[in-house]
Amino acid sequence: MVDMPSAVNEAMVTVLVRGHVVTMDGDRRELADGAVAIAGDRIARVGPYQQLRADYPSAAVVGTADSVVTPGYINAHQHLTGDRLIRSCIPERIDSQDAIFKWAVPVHGAHTGDDDELSAMLGAIEAVCNGVTCTVEAGTVAHPERIAAGLQRVGMRATLGQWGWDVADAPFAAPADEVLARQTEMLSKLPHGGLVEAWITLVGHDLMSDDLVVRASELARTSGVGMTFHLSPHAGDPVSYLARTGKRPFVHLRDLGVFGRHVLVAHAVHLDDEEVDIVLQTETAIASCPWAYIRLAQGFTTAGRHGELFARGARMAIGCDAENAGDAVDVLRAAALFVGLARDKMMDPFSMDAHDGLSMLTIGGAEAINKSATIGSLEVAKQADIVLHDTSGPEWMTRSTDVVRQLVWASDGRSVSEVFVAGRHVVSGGKCITVDMESLRAEAHARRDFFLALRASQA
Ligand SMILES: [Zn+2]
Repeated sequence: MVDMPSAVNEAMVTVLVRGHVVTMDGDRRELADGAVAIAGDRIARVGPYQQLRADYPSAAVVGTADSVVTPGYINAHQHLTGDRLIRSCIPERIDSQDAIFKWAVPVHGAHTGDDDELSAMLGAIEAVCNGVTCTVEAGTVAHPERIAAGLQRVGMRATLGQWGWDVADAPFAAPADEVLARQTEMLSKLPHGGLVEAWITLVGHDLMSDDLVVRASELARTSGVGMTFHLSPHAGDPVSYLARTGKRPFVHLRDLGVFGRHVLVAHAVHLDDEEVDIVLQTETAIASCPWAYIRLAQGFTTAGRHGELFARGARMAIGCDAENAGDAVDVLRAAALFVGLARDKMMDPFSMDAHDGLSMLTIGGAEAINKSATIGSLEVAKQADIVLHDTSGPEWMTRSTDVVRQLVWASDGRSVSEVFVAGRHVVSGGKCITVDMESLRAEAHARRDFFLALRASQA
């Protein structure tokens, strides 16, 4: 039951978001001409538009009967610093080690606090304009508080962590105690439950000692927050873990007790049978970034098992990764690719469909990051994270009898028109209204030129 006339005072409802409402609630209920009533940062009612209009006559109405209204989308793995200011600049015909050590590391290392805040704002503007209301930031190096400030200015929900690694001879490396002290500091600066909250965030791969990853996981568990890190997007991680520990990555970290429901592993593309079982048995969540794997030629179509993991009940969400790895911050585009590749790989039209893709962006994604109690569906008392799609464009002509099928397969972020995050109107008419992107354009391009010149001088 989603339409629950509650104790909400009529005057508290300020906005009705009208359209074909895809609730993503437990019954996957859809309302043909429905509305979602916003009171403060919460959803006050979900029900037939005419009824809510009568009950809240003074509320503003956004959308029409033809609009499509969904929960805000979750982007479960997104870098907000490092790549944005040199977006799509790293050559494609390049070895991954050169991409990291000749591009990503020197450019990221030269970022000032101003650069990080600018990057985060640009990434967040693109995200919200494509309907993303919650992002798991994949890890940043030097100025997390500036990233938090940029995210708060745009008004996007996010988790955020400061990377650390404690291996020898790596740039930005620090002892485990120092890395953990930084993580602890972030937890106090960005407390759990805020719009931007701290998560324990390690780089992952084989760039963490056993001591660091075990203590980091324990810190996440005892603090009641999530933990995220990269593992096995390519075949290199299994090779290095086998050389160092004699075990494959998921076996080694399982044996250390790292995994569990608090962990969101980014990627997990190169898994053997035992590692697939470990993901399922430990209920560890996976953030899949299909565009990045394909863009970087990492073997997703041959080695990847994400469709199988989904089919077997793994906790899965979707990410867009970075602006030189997948590039577009558009989760609808990524969901279509994920579902399409899964169906093709399993050669099974019964395996997954558009509704599964939308679930990974909404309630399923929220469950994967342990936030399904507050976001991920349009239900009374949840946070008012809401996306309205304008269906006047050609991608909605003609209109399908299955709105979700059309949204995932025929459309993408281009039809996103209005976005609310915690009840705040952040996108209107397809434009971010909290931060003016045009005012950032000149500075962004000047900084791009600076980083490209820096890179050229070091080449
Ligand atoms: Zn990443």
